Amino acid sequence: MALVLDGKALAAQIENELTERVAAYKAKTNRTPILATILVGDDPASATYVRMKGNACKRVGMDSIRVEMPESTTTEELLAKIDELNANRDVHGILLQHPVPAQIDERACFDRISLAKDVDGVTCLGFGNMSMGEPAYGSCTPQGIMHLLNHYNVELAGKHAVVVGRSAILGKPMAMMLLNANCTVTICHSKTKDLPTHIANADIVVGAVGVPELIKKDWIKPGAVVVDAGFHPTDTGGCGDIELGGIDAVASAYTPVPGGVGPMTINTLIRQTVEAAEKEAGLA
Ligand code: NAP
Repeated sequence: MALVLDGKALAAQIENELTERVAAYKAKTNRTPILATILVGDDPASATYVRMKGNACKRVGMDSIRVEMPESTTTEELLAKIDELNANRDVHGILLQHPVPAQIDERACFDRISLAKDVDGVTCLGFGNMSMGEPAYGSCTPQGIMHLLNHYNVELAGKHAVVVGRSAILGKPMAMMLLNANCTVTICHSKTKDLPTHIANADIVVGAVGVPELIKKDWIKPGAVVVDAGFHPTDTGGCGDIELGGIDAVASAYTPVPGGVGPMTINTLIRQTVEAAEKEAGLA
C-alpha cells in the first residue's frame, strides 16, 4: 500500500503551531497579524477561495481585511488599491485573488505588491529570489507541496521529477523548488510531445495541468511519488489532474484529492503571513 501524503492532517497540525505563534506575537506587540485579500469581480469560485482564506486567518487568531472591487475595475484602480495596502503598516500580507477580469494587467498588479507583503509568492522578484535560493515567500501551492514532501521525508535528491504544467503560480515555481532540492526536473506543457513517455520516466510526478484526470494511472512508473495539485468538483466529491483510482497499487506515495495539496495551499499563505508579521516586528 502506498503512503498517503495527508495534507489535511499536516495543515491542521501546522495551524495549531501558528495559533501559538500568533498568540505570542500579540502578547509581544499588542498588534494582530493582518492579511488583506483583494477580490475583483464576482466569480463565485474566487469568492469561495477568498472566504476560505479569511476563515483560516480567524482560526489561528489573525485578522483579515477583505477588499472587494467591481468587475469593471481598471488596472490603475487596482494598482492604487495595492499602493494603499502596501503603505498600510497594519497590513502584513496582501493576497490578490487570481484570476482578475481580462481588462486588468494581472502581472503589473502582482508585481506592485511590495516584496515584504508578497505572502502569496506572486511577484517576479520573489520568484527570482526563490529560484536563486535567496530568502523569499514561495508561491503557496508549490511551497505547500514542498512542505508536505519534506514532512513525509520523501527523498528528492537525484530523483527525476516531471512537472506537468508551467503556470506562473504553480508549474514554474514547482519546477524551481524541486530543482533547488536537487531533483532532475522535466517540465511538460500543452505543446509537449508524448506525455505518457515523460511520465513513465518520472520518480516524482506533479499534476498541475487543470484538466480532470489527464494523467493516467497506467502511465505512472511503479514506485513513483504522485502529487496531484488539481481539483475539479464532481458528484462524488472531486477529482484531480491525475487518475487516482487504484493508485495505491502503483505509487509509493500520493496526495489524495481532496485532502492532499489543497489544504496545504491556504496553510502556506497563513504561515507566510505570520512570518511577515514577525519579520516586520523584528521577531524573526
Ligand atoms: P493553468 O494556468 O491553466 O496552467 C495549466 C498548465 O497546464 C499550462 O502550463 C498548460 O500548458 C498545461 N497544460 C494544459 N493542457 C495540457 C496538456 N494536455 N498536456 C500537458 N500540459 C497541459 O493552471 P494552474 O493555475 O497552474 O492550475 C493547474 C491545476 O492546479 C488546476 O487543476 C487548478 O485547479 C489547480 N490548482 C490548485 C490549487 C490548490 O490550492 N490546490 C491552486 C492553484 C491551482 P501551456 O502553458 O502550454 O498552456
